[in-house]
Amino acid sequence: MTSQHGSEQRPETIAITAGRPAVTPDSALNPPISLNSTFTSGGPIGYGRYGNETWTALEAAIGALEGGQTLSYSSGMAAVSAVFSTLPAGAKVVASNQGYSGVMTLLGNLTTAKKINSTLVSIVNTDEVIAALDGADLLWLESPTNPSLDVADLPALIKAAKSRNITVAVDNTFATALVQKPLSMGADIVMNSVTKYLAGHSDLILGSLSTNSPVHFKALEDARKFNGAIPGPFEAWLALRGIRTFPIRFARASENALELAKRLSEHPLVTRVRYPGLPTDPQHAKAKSFMKGFGAIVSFEYAGSAQATDRVCESSKIVTYATSLGGVESLWERRRRWPIESASVPESLIRLSVGCEDVEDLWADIDAALHAAK
Ligand SMILES: *Cc1c(COP(=O)(O)O)cnc(C)c1O
Repeated sequence: MTSQHGSEQRPETIAITAGRPAVTPDSALNPPISLNSTFTSGGPIGYGRYGNETWTALEAAIGALEGGQTLSYSSGMAAVSAVFSTLPAGAKVVASNQGYSGVMTLLGNLTTAKKINSTLVSIVNTDEVIAALDGADLLWLESPTNPSLDVADLPALIKAAKSRNITVAVDNTFATALVQKPLSMGADIVMNSVTKYLAGHSDLILGSLSTNSPVHFKALEDARKFNGAIPGPFEAWLALRGIRTFPIRFARASENALELAKRLSEHPLVTRVRYPGLPTDPQHAKAKSFMKGFGAIVSFEYAGSAQATDRVCESSKIVTYATSLGGVESLWERRRRWPIESASVPESLIRLSVGCEDVEDLWADIDAALHAAK
């Protein structure tokens, strides 16, 4: 986004300025919650499944942050499904063998139904991914991955796929546009679970897709119109309200996450910590080469059984034992409690979504919970 003085606005400013109504005397600062299923004839919207001014405001803000035209959907998974629905029958999809369990399940179901062919690779191994690209229609990337925090070499993989004319889509939910902007690296589509950091208050479910390709935009907009997974206007309005403070929340949560990752890695009851911002993390050098931060999710393994790990999660007072992530409140969970989570994720792995509380309060709570389970 360009300011009146022609200089590029920084994301901290964009999050506050984008998606506002035009300024006229007594105009509202915020867009209205447009509760309408239909519109009088003669205009560009026509029907409430085709467009809504509250969605448009939210999409302007996400689009300005990601650097692309944006469409919002009823959930992150609806956005993912919209991408897969635009593929031709039998399309070859290359994706990571470890990633968000919902996407992994969807990929598996589409493959079983013979709608697509998926080739799953180790995303940290750039050569292996590139070797699998021949004949692919779509490279689906998620980085860092949920919940293992593996990092894909996005600049190298996007370049390799684009030189072979393969569509590249990136799930940017963990990193967000503040850390990396895949469209600027050449990706075709960026997906966000708006439910997480963008909205940021664990009170709604929404998703988005951003692209600079008019062809992809039209196909993805048609998928929204005719598959019908549209956002609710109230959720769109709340998400935009959340975006106003997203950079501040994300900065604070990321700072907390680095500190907690450091302390966890020295804790006697923790056997392994994954956080790309830790200098000792196997992916740190790669992550540092193109990411502007490392996010606020930390995964670690507890020195005990699955049952003992559940007890850790149940013992905290500030950190809540609940799924999801990206809100102001810290949450954690043992990921393998979900039957759809990959068997490659250790039974004792806890995914911690670090919130914006005071870091010393968080540490006291986490340390007490680790000891309470023994
Ligand atoms: C949560 C999540 C999704 C799915 O988003 P929903 O809004 O829950 O549908 C997709 N990818 C990642 C990385 C996620 O964390």
